[in-house]
Amino acid sequence: MKRPTTTRICFPCGSLCTVWLKVFLMLLLTFALGSTIACAKGISSADATAVAAPKSESPATPAPPEAVAPDSGPLPHIDSKRAFQSTREVTAFGPRYMGSENHKRLEHYILDHLKGDQVEDDAFTADTVEGKFPVRNIIAKFPGTKDGIIVILGHYDTVYPLRNSGFVGANDGGSSTAILLEYANQLRGGGAGKKRDGYSVWLVWTDGEEAVRQWTDTDSVYGARHLAEKWEKDGTVKKIKALMVMDMIADADLDIARNTKGAPWLLDLIHAAAERGGYQSHFYAQQGPIEDDHVPFFNRGVPCADVIDLDYGYNNVFWHSPQDTMDKLSPKSLEIVGDTILETIHMLDQR
Ligand SMILES: [Zn+2]
Repeated sequence: MKRPTTTRICFPCGSLCTVWLKVFLMLLLTFALGSTIACAKGISSADATAVAAPKSESPATPAPPEAVAPDSGPLPHIDSKRAFQSTREVTAFGPRYMGSENHKRLEHYILDHLKGDQVEDDAFTADTVEGKFPVRNIIAKFPGTKDGIIVILGHYDTVYPLRNSGFVGANDGGSSTAILLEYANQLRGGGAGKKRDGYSVWLVWTDGEEAVRQWTDTDSVYGARHLAEKWEKDGTVKKIKALMVMDMIADADLDIARNTKGAPWLLDLIHAAAERGGYQSHFYAQQGPIEDDHVPFFNRGVPCADVIDLDYGYNNVFWHSPQDTMDKLSPKSLEIVGDTILETIHMLDQR
């Protein structure tokens, strides 16, 4: 199915119509679930009829690596209390939209937490319909013994059009920033100079994920588009074994969608990792194509998965709303996603 470029809905959070594709999933489910209950693995008649056909959507997704025996090692665990505290601290900066003082403070906060790590910047100026903005992707690299890279992305900017609404993006921007900081804590375990046993893992705090006015191909994912182009030129794109985006992953009522705009084998691997932790009931009850930071990479044939919960409050009412605050979130949800993706990395390492 082609992207529904005309679907647009106004949300009650304001007069802003910044939503279309992201909301398409919600719309779809509202209608589709009336007649079809999607099963846990996401195979449903809704998938076959109304939703995307993932294979035709993927321009050049490489074949999955060879399957290996099921993982029997110990399940990895993040420190969810620490990740939740970090989400709280990030949110406490207030609105962190591109070009703001709070955004700069948050950049320093992230960099402070990455002292001693291998850190790179991808900074540039974005020319947008609301003027020019400094954009800065922050990349932390954790080298591995295997040839290839696993990339984890999460955006740290908050919604520009909501800058004067009191919007602080606890889940949308806060949780993604914090889970990546926690992954850094986990990945640096081996100590300075010691390679991890597996693929290199690169964490990317992306900037300018949010539209400055209204979500379109050119008004969205500014940082990710820049980075994908850069990585295509320098050959990095070809080395990426898997790229996973973390977005809105701390909702206390956790419901990660199967974003069909992704590599089916990677989506399945994440589900298998969730099953190992007994977390599968939080994955893939809903499905549909969602636009996010992975799209510029997906369009270049990188195997992608967007790990996103776009069912945030009744009818997604807290999304892009000043009600996106800490009281809606839970450390348990960070743990469920955090552990699942760490396990996914582990399973990828074994391939
Ligand atoms: Zn958002």
